[in-house]
Amino acid sequence: MTIMSPRIVKDTAIEMFVSLDLRSVALLFDVDGTLVEIGPSPFEVHVSEDLLGSLRRLAELTGGALALVSGRPIADLDHLFAPLKLPAVGGHGAELRLGDDKAWPKPRRLSAQFRLRLAEAAMFDPGILVEDKGYSLALHYRKSPHCAERLRKHVATCRAAFAAEPTELLLGKALFEVKLPGINKGDAVRELMTHAPFAGRAPVFIGDDITDEYGFAVANRLGGCAVKVGRGRTAAQWRFPHVRAVWRWLADGQRGPKRVRARRRRVAR
Ligand SMILES: [Mg+2]
Repeated sequence: MTIMSPRIVKDTAIEMFVSLDLRSVALLFDVDGTLVEIGPSPFEVHVSEDLLGSLRRLAELTGGALALVSGRPIADLDHLFAPLKLPAVGGHGAELRLGDDKAWPKPRRLSAQFRLRLAEAAMFDPGILVEDKGYSLALHYRKSPHCAERLRKHVATCRAAFAAEPTELLLGKALFEVKLPGINKGDAVRELMTHAPFAGRAPVFIGDDITDEYGFAVANRLGGCAVKVGRGRTAAQWRFPHVRAVWRWLADGQRGPKRVRARRRRVAR
């Protein structure tokens, strides 16, 4: 993966939307930090009725070519966005499900011994949250930022002790996640885009984290575009300053281009 210097040429969500024809694009959304504000833990986030309404409407306008592309397991996404059950990539690409409920085979799992050893980190501090997904294990430390270095060493020690079990380390926001190798959002997006109703459309990938850069690269390569939420170096061409700007864009999107054009004229003045 190559992360280039910022090529941010636009910073207004409105202009971005005007250039999109929802009949020819696929909308791919990361979740935490993109569609929802990052909570104190993955289990303390909120999805508003407005957001659900926007996603439902945009799914209609794109002919169903709207998917969530998240590090969360798909079961977790279904719970969070209920009653919507959107096409989804889960576990950073370990899981994939299309709108017809067709799911990919369950991925392999890290050994139970390895996961147990990693999970011992929960004893370091009550603020550390262990999320065992089977194919990966995530250590969240948003509530215990002072534990970052200790966790980093713990993960390195565990990986060295289980060197016969190949893994990759994923560094997210206040997160260490040890996962099976070869799983990333880029490959998952490439696979998703070969299936109806995504095939033949230009992917528009919106995400906020380093793991989304894989998806950005593939979206660019497939003739689509990428949108980064927040600060940081990125391969995305567009940027939203924060999650609230994404919400505004989604709300405009469901109302249709006519209203957006009117709003752009107001902004221009
Ligand atoms: Mg995110």
